[in-house]
Amino acid sequence: MNRFAPARLGAVLLLATTLVAACGAGPAATGSSAGRLDVIATTTVFADLVSQVGGGKVDVHSLVPKGGDVHTFDPTPTDVRAVSAATLLFRNGLGLDDWLTKLVSDAGSAATVVTLGDGLDGVQYITSASGQINPHVWMNVAYAAKYVDRIQAALTAADPADGATFAANATAYKAQLATLDNDIRTRLAAVPAANRVVVSFHDAFPYFAAAYGLTVVGTIVDAPGQDPSAGQVADLIAKIKASGVKAIFAEAQFNDALAKTIAAETGASVVSDLYDDTLGNPPQDTYVGIMTWNTDRVVAALGGS
Ligand SMILES: [Zn+2]
Repeated sequence: MNRFAPARLGAVLLLATTLVAACGAGPAATGSSAGRLDVIATTTVFADLVSQVGGGKVDVHSLVPKGGDVHTFDPTPTDVRAVSAATLLFRNGLGLDDWLTKLVSDAGSAATVVTLGDGLDGVQYITSASGQINPHVWMNVAYAAKYVDRIQAALTAADPADGATFAANATAYKAQLATLDNDIRTRLAAVPAANRVVVSFHDAFPYFAAAYGLTVVGTIVDAPGQDPSAGQVADLIAKIKASGVKAIFAEAQFNDALAKTIAAETGASVVSDLYDDTLGNPPQDTYVGIMTWNTDRVVAALGGS
């Protein structure tokens, strides 16, 4: 269920308007409008990180609209045109947004594609039950800072004249992220240890859990778009009861009906409207905003302060 359907329409219209503006400003081959870099990110989360570093020097747009699901995204012809006009494309990699490869090929784009999430020094990658590396690396704020370094390097390579601006923006933003990282760690450390056992709707929280001291004992779906069988739901309910799970993390971009049904069977609470793969409306319209919001919701549900 996409509860942000009007927002999606708005985002598509915005993209269309931007394309018209870009075409009016000059040939798309220059890859810029009004002297700014035309940049595409696969999700609103990465678009925000790019925007924090690029400031007024970039026009950045997300292919997956706010509230959309990156895992099951189906690009449209509008997306192909947006990609063909862009100079730089940012994706996560690790299987999250592999559809970008075909999109770039369909667009005949020669733009640089920057993969943010893979091969980062100092990241402890986590393998999911499927045997694949879990892609939700940015949910650890210290790891998101490594995305910022990669964004800064890519923007600087594309626009060396503004390198000092990108460096200053990245330094200031990473200071905010360091404060946020400390704040989340401190607040979750105050949650009683026995309460820090959770289940999430999809497998988006292992890096958050590892960084901030939670244990994720299961997920409701194996992957977005794959509904669990009755048997899988029964197994999960048994696991929740056996491991004393306090909370089920439900996410803004997915319907929380199944989470509520499972919670009613087990006595766990549902922490609804958490944000991971997408931003939302203010104050959940930035990466710092969603991580702060998530922490407030999680700490309240688990009995911290
Ligand atoms: Zn995800």
